[in-house]
Amino acid sequence: AKVIVEPHRHEGIFIARGKEDLLVTKNLVPGESVYGEKRISVDGPDGTKTEYRVWNPFRSKIAAGILGGVDHIHIAPGKKVLYLGAASGTTVSHVADVVGPEGAVYAVEFSHRSGRDLINMAKKRTNVVPIVEDARYPQKYRMLVPMVDVIFADVAQPDQARIIALNAHQFLKNTGHIVISIKANCIDSTVEASKVFAREVKKMQEEKIKPQEQLTLEPYERDHALVVGVYRP
Ligand code: SAM
Repeated sequence: AKVIVEPHRHEGIFIARGKEDLLVTKNLVPGESVYGEKRISVDGPDGTKTEYRVWNPFRSKIAAGILGGVDHIHIAPGKKVLYLGAASGTTVSHVADVVGPEGAVYAVEFSHRSGRDLINMAKKRTNVVPIVEDARYPQKYRMLVPMVDVIFADVAQPDQARIIALNAHQFLKNTGHIVISIKANCIDSTVEASKVFAREVKKMQEEKIKPQEQLTLEPYERDHALVVGVYRP
């Protein structure tokens, strides 16, 4: 079956149109998958080939947010992204594809086990700087991270608002953006999700982050919200 790949509304992200539509990113390292994801090769008119990797929204909150219709994701070619809660780097690898060789991803993860996979992935994706540290202590990695355009946070911790604020104050450009995944029951499992989201948004506002968008990640994740904001210190 012939697959046609078209640019998505979000720059640097693509849709493969086939039997079903798939979200894809342009593979920075053609010929290789990172975590067993499918690859799609497309022939150009001049005989060149371009390879894309399928980005599964059930495995990535950013992909879920994009398919859920977020207006602005702020992760685009050439951008510098500080990524908090990188895990083994599955989503980080797609973010690296999107920002491309002119951009960079500073990926922070405190688990040494996940950190090993993250470091391995970054060996070939040279625009990824893996940082195996606790995001609660941004001064520990200040030598590795410049001022960034965007912070994406997926740490799933009760104190995540504080973690994000510490990193924003240290590394985020004035009027830079923050994209946060909030998993309600990681923060407070005793109240309903919408209350948790509202409280987290209020904490962000107290840290000079102005919320611009909020969406739930249904049907891909339950009781999760994606919040996008702008930093105006
Ligand atoms: N974003 C990942 C993805 O899409 O593949 C999944 C992230 S998972 C929900 C949360 C991760 O945050 C875990 O790997 C956890 O070890 C990490 N984490 C939690 N607290 C952290 C902290 N204080 N500093 C660094 N990493 C942290």
